[in-house]
Amino acid sequence: MENPLTPEVLADPVALTRALVDIESVSLDEKAIADCVEEVLRRVPHLSTFRHGNTVMARTDLGRSSRVVLAGHLDTVPHNDNFPSTMRGDLMYGCGTSDMKSGVAFALHLAVTLPDPRYDVTYFFYEAEEIESRYNGLTLVAEAHPEWLRADFAVLLEPTYGIVEAGCQGTMRAIVTVPGERAHVARSWRGVNAIHGAGEVLRRLGEYRARRVTIDGCDYREGLNAVRIDGGVAGNVVPDRCEIEINYRYAPDRDPAAAEAHLREVFAGYDLAITDAAAGAAPGLDAPVAQEFLAAVGAAPIGKLGWTDVARFAAMGIPALNFGPGDPNLAHHRDEHVELTKIRDGAATLHRWLAPA
Ligand SMILES: [Zn+2]
Repeated sequence: MENPLTPEVLADPVALTRALVDIESVSLDEKAIADCVEEVLRRVPHLSTFRHGNTVMARTDLGRSSRVVLAGHLDTVPHNDNFPSTMRGDLMYGCGTSDMKSGVAFALHLAVTLPDPRYDVTYFFYEAEEIESRYNGLTLVAEAHPEWLRADFAVLLEPTYGIVEAGCQGTMRAIVTVPGERAHVARSWRGVNAIHGAGEVLRRLGEYRARRVTIDGCDYREGLNAVRIDGGVAGNVVPDRCEIEINYRYAPDRDPAAAEAHLREVFAGYDLAITDAAAGAAPGLDAPVAQEFLAAVGAAPIGKLGWTDVARFAAMGIPALNFGPGDPNLAHHRDEHVELTKIRDGAATLHRWLAPA
């Protein structure tokens, strides 16, 4: 395949977005796109370029006092009748237009066109963000080359519709088990119906008032939801067990231990098993580099409600935020699209921030 990322395409973030969208890269199938990106970066004299699996990293080494990361994942969710891209007026449609090849285009455009940024920059183009964490390019790099991730600040180019979404919420899943005692339905008074017992758990969920927490001016709105319920033995048996799966999205003022303690309080009296947990990330907007970034964007930040790789940087003590042109509400939808003006404005913002003082 001839590399579609030609110099003319690299010079224009809109054309670059489209070219990236039209290279198929569903998770675990990122070799072709990583090859194209790597080939482009290796030709750039002001960058040192490295590759691990299908993750490409390129960085400047100008001896600046601060180093920032710009990171974008190369993979997309599976296509849904939305590949390759199509144009309708000022909108580009297609899988990955919003999440997040328009963001990847920012990083690649800057990497190639900005030889003397005011901070040293590490650019990450990484694989497998949309699937389990063990495949995630940043997970693999953290294991194999942790020094690649060293930085003072990180920007994840996930879709935020051109504003700063800071930090991210934590996520926790748990199973609440309602006990019972099995019996034949013809003599049901000899048993205890676990499905009936689930009513009390559901009542607590229905009456639950989720918190709204403001940190560094960012609003985080929590959520506690039953996402699955499972019980029953047979058509003529009083069930002795009912399981309710709970998903808890919590503000980053709580760590996983505090989140678990809260769930144990809400479901006191029931057996509760945590099945999955990921810490959130505080906004970290007080760092000087973050302040300069906010000034370049010129709009108030809001709290990120989903979980993103921002949390991974926060766990390493690196303040990080999300900033990208796509609309987060369209990610993973069949009619996923991005506004061309958002691409142009966002690329200009990043350029303003990184251009030499
Ligand atoms: Zn994404």
